[in-house]
Amino acid sequence: MRRVEFVAVLESPLVIGARRQARVPACLDHVPGSALRGVLLSSQRRLHGEDATFQRLLEPGRNRFPFLYPGPAGTAPVARSAMECKRASVEHGLVDVLIDRYLATRPGAGNTEFERLEKAHRCQTCGQPRKRASGYRFVRERLPAPVRVQRMNVGIDRRTGSAAPHVLFGSQSLDPWSPGKDGDWHQATFSGMGYLEDDDLEVFLQLCEGPVFLGKYRSRGFGRVNLSIEPADDGGGREPGIEEGFARLKDLTGEPEGEVFTIDVTSPLLAFDRFLRPTSRPDEWLPRSLQAEVLTNMPTRTTVSGWDLACGMPKDDHPAVGAGSTLLARSRLARTDLARELAGIERVGIGERPEEGFGQIMVNDPFRFETQE
Ligand SMILES: [Zn+2]
Repeated sequence: MRRVEFVAVLESPLVIGARRQARVPACLDHVPGSALRGVLLSSQRRLHGEDATFQRLLEPGRNRFPFLYPGPAGTAPVARSAMECKRASVEHGLVDVLIDRYLATRPGAGNTEFERLEKAHRCQTCGQPRKRASGYRFVRERLPAPVRVQRMNVGIDRRTGSAAPHVLFGSQSLDPWSPGKDGDWHQATFSGMGYLEDDDLEVFLQLCEGPVFLGKYRSRGFGRVNLSIEPADDGGGREPGIEEGFARLKDLTGEPEGEVFTIDVTSPLLAFDRFLRPTSRPDEWLPRSLQAEVLTNMPTRTTVSGWDLACGMPKDDHPAVGAGSTLLARSRLARTDLARELAGIERVGIGERPEEGFGQIMVNDPFRFETQE
């Protein structure tokens, strides 16, 4: 599979439903991989019918459609361990406390480690306390949230042609324009990294030639995007970057044995234990092949719902490990073997429904080392 960058530039309001039951359903601030995959596959079916190509595209595990997050290529959900200034959140930058937290809580930690963690909880620019950051970031910078617009509608009684009593409904949408740092308004952009088979890349590139409509109310012109798919250069594989991370983490933690690594969950991760119950415990969802023990874990939780394209039915709701969950672990594997194993897992993801972009991870995210103070 080839690594590809998806970029969607929004041209009309976008409605991606989070909850079905509410009177004004909340709109997600991102495009789930299932929505992207569903739209491209149904466009293919509409144009060419259920031919051999369509059957091939439907194969589970074939191609990985990413979650598209609001920002330029490289935008990621802010990790659970990231903090920002309470007073000047965006301006004073993000820091990461995962390693400080581990050092202060592991057995044998003393005052030095505890003071280091305390220091990390205070802004180094203005001295104000820091709070947990959320949303999305590009490199070290937290991005502004997409602009949401709310509309209310009145139901019309067909017999009288006037407003029907008690029928009031609304929708929330994302605006195609959002304010930039320069004070100008820019077209909202969503992006994500996926993996496509070479044969299928051609098919999807053709589908991108026309306008693509994402989300709800597509027949009314909502969710019109200019979608592009660009093959991404992975610069000789991920292993060198991951190995560099081992060295940095070894320095920072001073762990004498094994290799230490971090995993950031960048899209909801659906995992089940041996009794087929949803699990959020990393000792159950971390692949056994890593021979790893978790040193510290900062999880978030979410609920995953979905739509079954083949059955035309909603899928069951499942609790899942949320995007932004992060952990530090140690493995007994040799450095090169572990780097190869982790790079492979980054490529295929962890857990169920990988083709819909669930279970995307980032190993040894350099953000963590760049924000050490
Ligand atoms: Zn500050």
